[in-house]
Amino acid sequence: MTMTEQAQDAKPAAIDKERLRRKYREERNKRLRPDGNDQYLQIKGQLAHYLEDPYTPVVDRAPKTDHVTFAFIGGGFAGLATAARLTEAGVKDVRIVEKGGDFGGTWYWNRYPGAQCDTASMVYMPLLEETGHMPSEKYAHAPEILAHCQRIGRQFNLYDNALFHTEVTSLDWDAAQSRWIIRTTRGDAFTAQYVGIGTGPLHVPKLPGIPGIERFKGHSFHTSRWDYDYTGGGPKGALMDKLADKRVGIIGTGATSVQCIPHLARACKELYAFQRTPSSVDVRGNGPIDPDWFADIATPGWQQRWLENFTANQAGGSAEEDLVQDGWTDLSKRIRAKIMLLPREQRSVENMRAAFEDSDFEKMEEIRNRVDTIVGDAETAKNLKAWYGQLCKRPCFHDAYLQAFNTPGTHLVDTDGKGVEEITENGIVVAGKEYALDCIIYASGFEVGTEYKRRAGFDVTGQDGIKLSQYWAEGMRTKHGIHVHGFPNLFFVQPTQGANLISNVPHNLTEAARTIALMVGHARDNGFKQIEVSRQAEDRWVELLLTAVGRMIGGPDCTPGYYNNEGREPGPAAKLNVGYPAGALAYFKYIDEWRRSGQFEGVQFR
Ligand code: NDP
Repeated sequence: MTMTEQAQDAKPAAIDKERLRRKYREERNKRLRPDGNDQYLQIKGQLAHYLEDPYTPVVDRAPKTDHVTFAFIGGGFAGLATAARLTEAGVKDVRIVEKGGDFGGTWYWNRYPGAQCDTASMVYMPLLEETGHMPSEKYAHAPEILAHCQRIGRQFNLYDNALFHTEVTSLDWDAAQSRWIIRTTRGDAFTAQYVGIGTGPLHVPKLPGIPGIERFKGHSFHTSRWDYDYTGGGPKGALMDKLADKRVGIIGTGATSVQCIPHLARACKELYAFQRTPSSVDVRGNGPIDPDWFADIATPGWQQRWLENFTANQAGGSAEEDLVQDGWTDLSKRIRAKIMLLPREQRSVENMRAAFEDSDFEKMEEIRNRVDTIVGDAETAKNLKAWYGQLCKRPCFHDAYLQAFNTPGTHLVDTDGKGVEEITENGIVVAGKEYALDCIIYASGFEVGTEYKRRAGFDVTGQDGIKLSQYWAEGMRTKHGIHVHGFPNLFFVQPTQGANLISNVPHNLTEAARTIALMVGHARDNGFKQIEVSRQAEDRWVELLLTAVGRMIGGPDCTPGYYNNEGREPGPAAKLNVGYPAGALAYFKYIDEWRRSGQFEGVQFR
């Protein structure tokens, strides 16, 4: 037998599941903190400069006091998709109100080097067919996605009415006129018959509450406000030449860091990556999209077919074909393959959970072994291994991240789950050792799990003076994740309580956009002024949601993070952060039928 034959013949070593479960628990316990979400700092007051827009100067303008048919809060994918569908339905005066200096939402802010989408562009980028854009890569980079947002803005004529660098401060229902009054940080007080809200789940940057953070005398910024003036280079990947003589520390090794560390590694004199929990980093396999291939597949209706195929593959990997073939569909197919090994009569919830765990152990062993095949230094490789289930934290995919730790001058500083100890005038302290730095980059993520009003920056006052913050004090209540009783003509555009398809958020948004445009068109064509959901219909929807079995993402036994409320008891509101019990594919079918029926069941027009 040759060596190759022997290797092919060799069975993978049996996985010691008990050992793995023990190891996962030990690592989780190291990272667990009593202060949960309170460990992070809200960026305000003296820290407010971390939020300033480094990309576009703020331009003076007169306050708006006019009226529009539809105002949308947030100029990211949710606002763009909704405004596009409304424009198609004949609503010409849609006003997008956006805190950034242009459209793009998360892609406006996140211009860090290496930023790219993690779900295949063909399904991630909305309205590709409508705009005729072919993504240049399987996973497009941020500048292309930002340009695509601008393309949608131009094509659907959304720029003239848009208000950039503007944050809403209050939203009040004017019952006498059946319209909303919108006030903003720029002195606007205009009205809109309808309002949409799509501010995104991760739009408020946060800082780690590390003692001494305000003392550092060097330069510092958050990854979502990348300071190219300081670093040199640019978002398209040009070398950050101004870092050639700099000692840079980056705090955090989540999905953002995984993408920007390779770029920092090749630019900095010394790079220190301060790690509390390693990310799981699987193969990316990016590449250009072939225009000939694209011309073949891009027949009418192609993107909807791809979206549905992707979702079908997510929903237990049930589709016969996998058009998209990315990390997410691979993950679902693997789990399904394991479950299918069970004889039909043995497919109980318990056995399926065990099959899921088996599939996850195998995948995570593969991902951990990958580290050894790439990273030269044994101690660094050991510390880069993730000891938790793949869906406990955001799964990452990258083909240059682990390699970056082989670059001379790039150092992993593992904090053994404890985090950075202190920040001094000169740098960062871990385990009593100070690392002197010129610059600290905070790759510390975004607020999740804080109060809705705090993240949105405003409260909503609906019928009879009811505040949304009060109405949702015990958790979100909606129908379809879109309507809230007592808040007429208001639409939420986001995944929760709808399809809840986390692996491709834009699909949730484009479907909600379609639903909203249809309702607004129906109201206009039939002379209705108000669209609202009855309390009974909302209750029925929430009751249905509560029959769901549970989530695959996060979980109380997982390593702490924003997927599981930092490992703390999630509280009663969290059980409402769910989706349609039968899954995303079933939700999309359901909502399509709901729209087609023309009955608008549960929603009243008057
Ligand atoms: P994350 O919240 O995922 O990561 C924050 C990082 O900061 C973690 O590694 C965290 O450690 C670390 N950290 C926090 N406090 C400390 C401390 N005191 N000491 C040391 N380290 C600390 O933020 P990201 O910006 O990386 O990603 C946020 C989300 O944005 C992702 O989960 C994903 O949903 C999205 N995203 C999507 C991308 C895409 O689609 N292409 C790309 C990038 C981000 P610990 O893990 O221990 O908490």
